[in-house]
Amino acid sequence: MNKKLMKNVNGKKFDVVIIGGGIIGASTAREVAAEGYSVLLVEKDDFASGATSRSSRLLHCGLRYFEAPKPVRTFMMNPTRLLNALKMSKQAMKARYEIVKSVPQRVNKINFILPIYSDDDFKPWQIDIGFSLLSRFTPNDVPLDYQRIGKSEALENPLIASLSNKDKLIGAAKFTEYQFNWPERLCVDAVMDAKRLGAVTLNYTVAKIKDASGCERTIELKDHAGKTAQVKASRVMVMAGAWIDRVLADVESTMPRKSTGTKGAHIVVKLPESCRGQGITKLNSQGEPFYCIPWSDYHYIGPTETLYEGNLDEVHADSADVRFLLKETASLFPGLKITHEDVISTWAGVRPLTFDENQLKGARNKVLHDLSRHGLPGVYALTAGPIMSHRDTGREVVTKLLQEIEPHGQKISFEYVSDFSLNYADNFYSKFSEQSIKKAVNDEDARTIFDVIYRRLGIGWDYDALPELDVDHVSRIMAKELHWEEDDREREVEKFLRETKKLFDVPDI
Ligand SMILES: Cc1cc2nc3c(=O)[nH]c(=O)nc-3n(C[C@H](O)[C@H](O)[C@H](O)COP(=O)(O)OP(=O)(O)OC[C@H]3O[C@@H](n4cnc5c(N)ncnc54)[C@H](O)[C@@H]3O)c2cc1C
Repeated sequence: MNKKLMKNVNGKKFDVVIIGGGIIGASTAREVAAEGYSVLLVEKDDFASGATSRSSRLLHCGLRYFEAPKPVRTFMMNPTRLLNALKMSKQAMKARYEIVKSVPQRVNKINFILPIYSDDDFKPWQIDIGFSLLSRFTPNDVPLDYQRIGKSEALENPLIASLSNKDKLIGAAKFTEYQFNWPERLCVDAVMDAKRLGAVTLNYTVAKIKDASGCERTIELKDHAGKTAQVKASRVMVMAGAWIDRVLADVESTMPRKSTGTKGAHIVVKLPESCRGQGITKLNSQGEPFYCIPWSDYHYIGPTETLYEGNLDEVHADSADVRFLLKETASLFPGLKITHEDVISTWAGVRPLTFDENQLKGARNKVLHDLSRHGLPGVYALTAGPIMSHRDTGREVVTKLLQEIEPHGQKISFEYVSDFSLNYADNFYSKFSEQSIKKAVNDEDARTIFDVIYRRLGIGWDYDALPELDVDHVSRIMAKELHWEEDDREREVEKFLRETKKLFDVPDI
């Protein structure tokens, strides 16, 4: 329990304190602990509650990094952006290979299709070259299955048949894409691995850097019950996603901006059975990538991309997001005939992109910022780390640390496996068992009903199973484990219902 842990860590010194328990902080904690460093990972809410649980869930092949308004012109005018796109896509293909091979149960394979028009910026031969380049980035046993097909064959695909502008359609590019079926679990797994490797991990605890001017850094911790502790660190990694600038401003008010937050929203709809398992990617009216992605019997459509300066703890899809998504869907895929009544759910998140004064909506290149030149020696902050390459990000941090400080402990080897598949039978009823719920609370630090249902057991993302979701049942088992009185239990159920409504409801438009 946190209370005991807070007491134990108070006054301790760690090699590395990581602020932020999203996929980037969690993965870094695992890699750094395995290297033999003493690690404290602190998350102010639950692990994976930030952008990590709000993404488009694509373990994409890197094509996305070449999608830009007027791409040929954009990249010719900005060779650095092209180099970054090449670097990011290479990392994406490497990560795709590694994840599909090591945790195949955490990904779904999707047939993706990219329509090609006669007036596209990229010509078909350029698309061939692009895919051939991508496929060279990894071994052949997780192939892209790239195939360019002509117009009549393309039109056999129901999503292509639903498109507008079919008169200008000249064909399509077919390829295999992968999707994370549960990014939150990957994050929780990384936290649990980190713990097993010796890291101390705290959720529902806010971290604040109190002082980083000398040779030691002091971090103040405060949990949700108001209990506080102070720890010291040789190095601090601020991996607080879109909250990074807030964490840094608390210790250094003149810190230049490091991150730009852009909001991305999705809508969930049910398409005809013929679309099952099929995904499509296209540019929207803003020249930004727009996807229709399969999710069991459903599809999700999006994302949006708008600058976000609002409350980071209250992000949800609003009326403007849903209006935009419906308008784009109607204009790109008129044949799907999607209206507001068809939307069964929504979600939205904020991408923690890298601040770049030349790119209004931020840059997608991942940066590990060394803040020593801003008066914070030994403090680093990471921006724009996608879920896909989280393992590489953790390893890059290890490389950096090894140049600066010696680990106190021994290097430990470990294997990347998904705990969930080891400890739970992956079906709805066993997920709901008393044993699973108790395990989520007692071994995996779940504290709220939302933690259990979405981030430890994953039941919430199964839209067909949702009507059978017995929140009372979950709450009664949790109450026993967490010593909730009846009042507390009722409050927790209400909190869960409020939170799910806020995060997933379909707003009026
Ligand atoms: C709409 C959308 C679509 C996306 N699509 C994809 C995709 O298809 N594929 C892909 O790979 N990536 C995608 N991404 C990007 C990806 O989701 C993020 O880049 C990634 O999740 C960032 O992880 P993170 O750990 O840096 O941030 P987060 O997951 O946001 O974690 C940061 C954590 O820090 C915590 N924190 C903040 N302040 C403090 C503090 N003071 N003390 C303690 N903890 C603190 C927060 O509570 C939060 O949990 C998408 C993102 C969005 C929003």
